[in-house]
Amino acid sequence: MSDCLFCKIVNKEIPSEAVYEDEFVYAFHDISPVATIHIIVIPKKHIKSLNDIEENDLLLMGKILSAINKIAKDKKIDSEGYRVVNNCGENGGQTVDHIHFHLLGGRNMMWPPG
Ligand code: AMP
Ligand code: ZN
Repeated sequence: MSDCLFCKIVNKEIPSEAVYEDEFVYAFHDISPVATIHIIVIPKKHIKSLNDIEENDLLLMGKILSAINKIAKDKKIDSEGYRVVNNCGENGGQTVDHIHFHLLGGRNMMWPPG
């Protein structure tokens, strides 16, 4: 989508600090980190939100989890643990309408979230 911030990041029209990239998935440092490690993991394909995934996106969603698994190991937070967050829609606090997963680590996370 031409007016989507994260599509522009995928297409390198807007700079980002890459953490992981393959044919289907891109991950980059969040511009306003809320934890020592705060990485945004997205499909390169534009999907608006979790509400919009379809049957033929399920393999892609698995690839995202696989990327998160690799990044957590690479950042050495796999054994101490981390949090993966998807904000969906208005009540979920989604501000960018391209599905994304926050990988948060390096500190103890609170529960319940705000
Ligand atoms: P959400 O509120 O779940 O939609 O998350 C959007 C996230 O994207 C926020 O944590 C923002 O800090 C982050 N963000 C917005 N613009 C950029 C950017 N240009 N580069 C990296 N992260 C961004
Ligand atoms: Zn997009």
